[in-house]
Amino acid sequence: MTEPHERPGDGPADRPAGLADGTRCVRAGLPAPVPGQPFLPGPVFAAPYHLDPWAGPAAAPDGYGRPDNPTRRLLEAAIGELEGGDCRVFASGQAAITGLLLTVLRPGDTVVLPSDGYYSVRAFAADTLEGLGVRVVLAPTAGPCPALDGVRLVLLETPANPGLDVADIADVAARAHAAGALVAVDNTTATPLGQRPLDLGADVVVASGTKALTGHSDLLLGYLATRSAELLDAATNWRNVTGSVPGAFDAWLAHRSLATLDLRLGRQTANAEALTGLLAGRTDVTGLRWPGLPGDPAHAVASAQMRRIPGLLAFDLGDAERVARFLDAARLVGAATSFGGLHTTADRRAQWGDDTSPGFVRLSCGVEDPVDLVADVANALDASR
Ligand SMILES: *Cc1c(COP(=O)(O)O)cnc(C)c1O
Repeated sequence: MTEPHERPGDGPADRPAGLADGTRCVRAGLPAPVPGQPFLPGPVFAAPYHLDPWAGPAAAPDGYGRPDNPTRRLLEAAIGELEGGDCRVFASGQAAITGLLLTVLRPGDTVVLPSDGYYSVRAFAADTLEGLGVRVVLAPTAGPCPALDGVRLVLLETPANPGLDVADIADVAARAHAAGALVAVDNTTATPLGQRPLDLGADVVVASGTKALTGHSDLLLGYLATRSAELLDAATNWRNVTGSVPGAFDAWLAHRSLATLDLRLGRQTANAEALTGLLAGRTDVTGLRWPGLPGDPAHAVASAQMRRIPGLLAFDLGDAERVARFLDAARLVGAATSFGGLHTTADRRAQWGDDTSPGFVRLSCGVEDPVDLVADVANALDASR
């Protein structure tokens, strides 16, 4: 289930496989047409599969459900096509990220992690990696890039969740490779339609497929994608022995959802743009961040590096009570964590122990109509003042 990978320079940068995004999403990972068969075959539910009594597991690709599942392989082909690498899916984003860290890092190694990225990764580094004798260096996504001599792995998260700073992937990859370090990029927020880190020089992509990639708020998924056979083998082996695989139904739902990724992201970005128009003009909203805004500190790097800006905003409403009044008054903004779903949601990150200020809100634009959404947010801001 591998495809020939395009390299930078093979074609127009905005059409990595020669086809535009919507087309690639609709077709990604689908088997060749067979009369009488569905476009996307249904999920295959199996723990053991029948074996050939004489040849045993060598006779067929599927022997046991932990390493082998055809529904999962189709999803991996789809995500691999979009990222431009070979993919392995995991039970969650955390399973993919911690799997990569534990596969690559050994006692005495140094890892550089974002100081402003997904908090569970920092918690894992403090609890587990440091306990194993790995030195953890935290660096801000917006830079400056720390000295990388003696570093084994740099993990970037760009745009970073929740602060939405952006790192220059090609620049960090060049510095890291000069120092003999590997570069991993958490591509959760951007999705492979927003940027293809492997084209920008990263060695491996990790991500949560729970968010915008699948976008229906109904499953957990993670993945890793790479062009390195060595990293792919190590990750595959890690997943086989630790068992962090997604179930067949979740893999099938995820693949089904991928077909609309271009449509969903398009509307989410349009909604983010419409909402920033409202929020930027209000004196009762501070700290507005969206990399698509011309004045945003991340705008220059984001517009050079990214093919589209995700529908995720951050701003501050001052205190926890105003955020609660805002969420109570809004009819189209659900109070929920996570992001990238069909429904617009907002999350006061400090309630989860993130080191953000008490009034800091991360708002994830859904696919509602922009006019309705802007009117609802304006009303809720007025009502909560
Ligand atoms: C949500 C998230 C994760 C973790 O993914 P899960 O699927 O929840 O395990 C990792 N990185 C980023 C940037 C995320 O937003």
